[in-house]
Amino acid sequence: MNTPETQAVYDRIKAHSESFLGYPVAKDFSYSDYAPFLDICINNVGDPESPSTFAIDTKDIERKCISFFAEMLSSNNKDVWGYITNGGTEGNLYGLYVARESFPNAMVYYSESTHYSVKKNLHLLNIPNIVIRSQENGEMDYEDLEQTISYRRDKPAIFFLNIGTTMTEAVDKIDEIKRIIKKYAIKDYYIHCDAAFLGTIAPYIDAKPKFDFAEGIDSISISGHKFIGSPIPCGAVLVKRQHRDRIAHSVSYVGTMDTTITGSRNGLTPLFIWDFIKKHDHKGLRERVKACQDVAAYTEHKLNLLGVPAWRNNEGLTVVFPTPSTRICKKYQLASQEDIAHIICIPGITFGQIDAFLADLKTELHDIPTETEAVLA
Ligand SMILES: *Cc1c(COP(=O)(O)O)cnc(C)c1O
Repeated sequence: MNTPETQAVYDRIKAHSESFLGYPVAKDFSYSDYAPFLDICINNVGDPESPSTFAIDTKDIERKCISFFAEMLSSNNKDVWGYITNGGTEGNLYGLYVARESFPNAMVYYSESTHYSVKKNLHLLNIPNIVIRSQENGEMDYEDLEQTISYRRDKPAIFFLNIGTTMTEAVDKIDEIKRIIKKYAIKDYYIHCDAAFLGTIAPYIDAKPKFDFAEGIDSISISGHKFIGSPIPCGAVLVKRQHRDRIAHSVSYVGTMDTTITGSRNGLTPLFIWDFIKKHDHKGLRERVKACQDVAAYTEHKLNLLGVPAWRNNEGLTVVFPTPSTRICKKYQLASQEDIAHIICIPGITFGQIDAFLADLKTELHDIPTETEAVLA
């Protein structure tokens, strides 16, 4: 059934996906029950709430997924609208797009720890923007934000907040943003949250960070292929309904509303997300978060015992530590930036895998003193 070339690709990916520890994508899923869908044409072209004359979509399921996420984010499908995207980047692009349509003269503020794709999104949309310094842990430096805003009080402000930065899982505090908005009496503002990784995690943390619609956010981007897990990258964007209504245009050729970034859209990924929601629900998600936190706490603790100064933001799943040797980074596919690397304890990573990594690291730390110094420097 496979060609020899694609079989080789399968074997390569299978081996690599078993060994990685450094990227935030769950690996414990199976959607092979959905194989029959691979033999039919599926297309969710246009707005998920508006039927197309091209009726080969999974929009009913897509809307159920959005309702679930809306509820998870303290809202409902009357007040917010959304769709299943191709991933975090598209959701952020969408949020910034509707923000610009609300306030064409706005300035965007975002921290230097923001995902690399945001700069490009801002360039595509041609919105003026200012990078705010980050604190040591990756969280926005509110003093720098305050000072920057104080010179531009007359301009509408778009706040692009990180709910879990890519490198350290840092969360920008919405209360600090609100304090600054109030202090400088900023009338026109928009708050977008990039919750690509933490979107489906943070709502289930005991001391949960504030970032949902009840806190007054305007839009949010979350991932489907990260904590939930999917063979195809996907995500969700949710926006206050008024923002979607502002940009709604009807298109006669497909008979639907052109409210999404792309025209043709993936109809398979809503099925995977819905399957996950039905099997896990809020209770399962809470347990899933707890199980990963336990692995992360263990990893942090064991690294500290080895003398490696590992740490985590907010009891999160991302364990940050000084970048180890190139050999270790390559073997475990650890992402590194400047002098830090991380292990992200996502579903599918076991205590056994962490132990194997620790044993490997320990040998290196003890056998090669010069390298030990490099690692701990
Ligand atoms: C992963 C990630 C993104 C980008 O998401 P894609 O699905 O790769 O487009 C954006 N922001 C943050 C914080 C992320 O973790």
